[in-house]
Amino acid sequence: MLPILFPNGLKKAFTLSYDDGCYDDLKLIEMMRKYGVRGTFNISSGITRPEGQQPCGSWERMTLSERKNYLHDGIETAVHGVTHRDFTKLTEPELIYEIMGDKSALEAEFGCIVRGAAYPYGSFDDRSVEALAKCGIKYCRTVWSDHSMAMPTDWLRLRPTAHHNDPELPEIIESFLSTEPEARRMLYIWGHTPEFNQKNNWQMMEDYLARLSGRSDVYYATNLEICEYDLAAKSLEYSADGSMVYNPTATAIWLDKSGTPIEIKPGETVGV
Ligand SMILES: [Zn+2]
Repeated sequence: MLPILFPNGLKKAFTLSYDDGCYDDLKLIEMMRKYGVRGTFNISSGITRPEGQQPCGSWERMTLSERKNYLHDGIETAVHGVTHRDFTKLTEPELIYEIMGDKSALEAEFGCIVRGAAYPYGSFDDRSVEALAKCGIKYCRTVWSDHSMAMPTDWLRLRPTAHHNDPELPEIIESFLSTEPEARRMLYIWGHTPEFNQKNNWQMMEDYLARLSGRSDVYYATNLEICEYDLAAKSLEYSADGSMVYNPTATAIWLDKSGTPIEIKPGETVGV
């Protein structure tokens, strides 16, 4: 088995994940578009601010018409429970409703097949992981920031690298940018946009994005793009002696052949 690379033979990926469908997401979306950064917004479809009502406090949600701003390229919308209830405190039917109801509502609203999620309150157990998998969810983010940039081994218990307010984040970003890694690395930053107002640190985030953007050695992608590329790469089929590889997926996959990136096109069998 050859080591997997990101598209175009890259070894570094950068993504963002922001929760709750807050009004302040508008500002982050604008910033992400300015810097060409991609990411994911986890939305409780059942919680909106009434149309015509001005946002007046912190943690205000978007109105349905404001949520159209999530329709830009580079923005993924993902499940966060219809009404943001703690998955571990629900009956089976309530749990399925929170996941499937949110998936279904977001799909109708945004015209895409929703396959990602983040746990409300970061709270999960084996039962909720199982329910997500049954509902067609490919990954779900926890709040266990572990400062790691290693690729996830369990996408339904996904650990982010760091919250944007993490004091170690500047150091982590510099390490991500300056190191030529042996294996793939993913820098994954998460949070809630009202926290930028609470701490008055929008400028800090803009500085992070400016620093991280526009690099030819970084794969900028949504959570789902990284997850599904990884899952596709893991479904390559190798010959018994490892000398041939077949790509049964619809995604071109890049591998590291003794330091040289090679591309395995969809449906292709190649000698490696
Ligand atoms: Zn939340």
